[in-house]
Amino acid sequence: MISKRLSDISCDAEEFNKAKGAYEQALRSSGYDEKMEYIEKTSNPADPKVRRKRTKNIICCLPNVSTILNSTRSQRTVEEKEDRMCNCRNKAKCPISGECLKTAVVYEATLQTEETQYQYIGLTEHTFKARYNAHKSSFNNANQRLSTELSKTVWELKEQHVPYNLKWAILKHSQPYRGGMRACDLCLTEKLCIITSKHVNTKKRREILNKSRHMNKLLLRKCL
Ligand SMILES: [Zn+2]
Ligand SMILES: [Zn+2]
Repeated sequence: MISKRLSDISCDAEEFNKAKGAYEQALRSSGYDEKMEYIEKTSNPADPKVRRKRTKNIICCLPNVSTILNSTRSQRTVEEKEDRMCNCRNKAKCPISGECLKTAVVYEATLQTEETQYQYIGLTEHTFKARYNAHKSSFNNANQRLSTELSKTVWELKEQHVPYNLKWAILKHSQPYRGGMRACDLCLTEKLCIITSKHVNTKKRREILNKSRHMNKLLLRKCL
């Protein structure tokens, strides 16, 4: 016990041996015959040297600042990218699985009733969401019932009280038409999707022969 106390306050064995004589004498005079021996110190966490070493070890185990910044940055980029693709408050209710802000797309609407399935293929230069909202408006406003083949079918089903389920999907992403281009890639993509579709109830196939309205709107005569 005394050896331990004296060892703790001595910086090394040499200093311990210098001081132990007086302690042994005091012990003997009190009836104890304990032989004092230096007890090696275990590392003291309060010792600045030990503390430095531990801190260094901890620092070595931690990822460096640039790694943390890079991972935060890439995480933020993924989140920003997701935000740019969808602005629905409830992402689970996004009509197109988190991609509603995609632009220049060819999309497909599938109208499912108990007896049959209707397919509608459309395109938009702008965001899918803007086109989707226009479709929804045409299903609710009677004066817009003739705006698309899809709205016509929806209104017919509604009038016959036939329950239906409507699903949306993006078929292709394309380039919007720009002045100087020889053809409208977006319209050609839509035509290709209609031709290759196996379903008979697609957008009327005669529309395939129509010239791109995107090219028309950029013709000079439209500006006069
Ligand atoms: Zn969305
Ligand atoms: Zn076009």
